[in-house]
Amino acid sequence: MKIGIISDIHSNSEALNSVLENIKEIDEFICLGDIVGYGADPNYCIEKIKGLNCRCIGGNHDFAITGKVNINYFNYAARAAILWTSLQLKKENFNFLLNLRKKIKLKDNVFAVHGSPQDPLLEYILDKDTASFIFSKYDFKIYFIGHSHLAGCFSFNEDNNKIDYNNFSNGGYVEISKNKRYIINCGSVGQPRDGNPRASYGIYDLKYNTVNIYRVSYPINLTKSKIINAGLPRSLADRLSYGR
Ligand code: ZN
Repeated sequence: MKIGIISDIHSNSEALNSVLENIKEIDEFICLGDIVGYGADPNYCIEKIKGLNCRCIGGNHDFAITGKVNINYFNYAARAAILWTSLQLKKENFNFLLNLRKKIKLKDNVFAVHGSPQDPLLEYILDKDTASFIFSKYDFKIYFIGHSHLAGCFSFNEDNNKIDYNNFSNGGYVEISKNKRYIINCGSVGQPRDGNPRASYGIYDLKYNTVNIYRVSYPINLTKSKIINAGLPRSLADRLSYGR
């Protein structure tokens, strides 16, 4: 059983298609939210997700579109994209976002959420202190998260209480150990912020108990020109080239 983990697509159809062309022999997909926001193809991306065997969580951008998250939490460019997206969405795609859940259970003690178990929509797990708090407060073996757009893994060693962080901005590999617990971010499909502009995704192999994170290139210039032609803020196009 292999699960494809995708997150933070952000209306980037070129990145999503590159990932789906690359990802092989997947039994099921899990989408960790932020299907829309920032990019120019919100309807396409939602319809692509609907067409997959995919369980999907909502992210802060998805829920801002539906009014479940206050738009004042967002910066100018993000707000502009949320307002633009809400004008573009077909009714059935709006309803799809409206019905997204906040958490998925993949198997015993393995969960997925957009931000963090404490605050599914808004909290970022960016440092060992935050990760340490989450490991101590919540009972889980693995939490898959998105939201930060940074591919990487916090691991907690139960033998010595030590927390490590592995950066997966160039891809990576986790072999799930008996004595460790994990918070894993498989990175962002449509707007990576870890310095690598290539789209990021993961594969969780339940048979071998491994998680692989991969990066794949996509036609960024096409995505950028669509964002600019849509009248979205220019910064949303420019940042894609830098992966920031
Ligand atoms: Zn996001």
